[in-house]
Amino acid sequence: MGKILAAECSCGYSASVAVGSGRELHGIVFEFPHLCAGCSETVAADLLKSKVCCPICNSPSLKIYGTQEHDGAKKKSWFQKLFRGSDEPVPTVVSEYCYNLETTFEIEDRCHPCPKCKEQTLKFSVEAMFD
Ligand SMILES: [Zn+2]
Ligand SMILES: [Zn+2]
Repeated sequence: MGKILAAECSCGYSASVAVGSGRELHGIVFEFPHLCAGCSETVAADLLKSKVCCPICNSPSLKIYGTQEHDGAKKKSWFQKLFRGSDEPVPTVVSEYCYNLETTFEIEDRCHPCPKCKEQTLKFSVEAMFD
């Protein structure tokens, strides 16, 4: 199951980006939002490609949005959470596990860098799901 996220910034910039993939491409394609420094856009790039690059301008200068947590790191982060005490978990807009990379990709419900105005004012929300 894939999701379409709407990215919207107070400067007027908006984009639609995909997360994951539909059933047919499951395990072959895993898309996730990136900020492209080449064309200053929020784009969905396929993380399972041998070389991850921008689908619009082909630039490799992509910066992935959100956080990634590898399976092997789970135990450690559990301990870290324990020691940090009463930290409230940050709500996430999307949390998608990629089987190929054994990694959970998450976008937190907070402001992210905008490719146009370069401010930390870009917000993501789930627009639609696709199969
Ligand atoms: Zn680009
Ligand atoms: Zn902006």
